[in-house]
Amino acid sequence: MTANICNALSGHLYIVAAPSGAGKTSLVKALLDRSQGVTVSVSHTTRAMRPGEADGVNYHFTSVENFQAMQSSADFLESAEVFGNFYGTSQKAVEQQLAQGTDVILEIDWQGAEQVRRLNPDCTGIFILPPSQQALRERLNNRGQDSEEIIDARMAEAISEMSHYAEFDYLLVNDDFDIALNQLDSIIITRRLQLQNQAIAQKGLLQELLA
Ligand code: 5GP
Repeated sequence: MTANICNALSGHLYIVAAPSGAGKTSLVKALLDRSQGVTVSVSHTTRAMRPGEADGVNYHFTSVENFQAMQSSADFLESAEVFGNFYGTSQKAVEQQLAQGTDVILEIDWQGAEQVRRLNPDCTGIFILPPSQQALRERLNNRGQDSEEIIDARMAEAISEMSHYAEFDYLLVNDDFDIALNQLDSIIITRRLQLQNQAIAQKGLLQELLA
């Protein structure tokens, strides 16, 4: 059984989930580009690499055999089968980042979120929604070259993922990208400003002011 890794360590663990097409990866990337002290966990997956992806950057691409060996060794904080492929989050990598005081974002599906939440109830879950079914359908029809059947299947998967929205702490709608990005950033900033965190971060200032 995986230990609770949220409480004892200084970085905070965020889960960001969304249906494909909601813009989750772009939002997280833009957040990392402009924020300090936050990183995204690079998952392991058995799915094939897509054009433009790089091993160790988008994912650690691995064989089913290696993935199962990692599962048996309890290397994963969470793991799940999504659309016929396996995905998992390395516990060690996340622990190391948290121990350094870095906030860590897990971009994972609802099944992984459930596992992480159960073990780490202190974590913060954020769910990102598209602005409408029509917008989602357009975003899922990448390059406009897919058949109605394929798009219908993607829509069904997206609706299934969205049905889990109520299991998260925050709900964002990615209509205007910059607004959604500011909202995502605000969640992280607000947490850092909480008394328990500021009492540590501003210890020197508080000592000086109260002397
Ligand atoms: P894709 O293969 O399109 O990058 O991702 C497919 C789905 O797998 C997305 O919903 C994504 O959030 C989810 N996913 C990616 N990495 C992980 C992971 O480490 N664990 C879990 N549970 N889901 C993941």
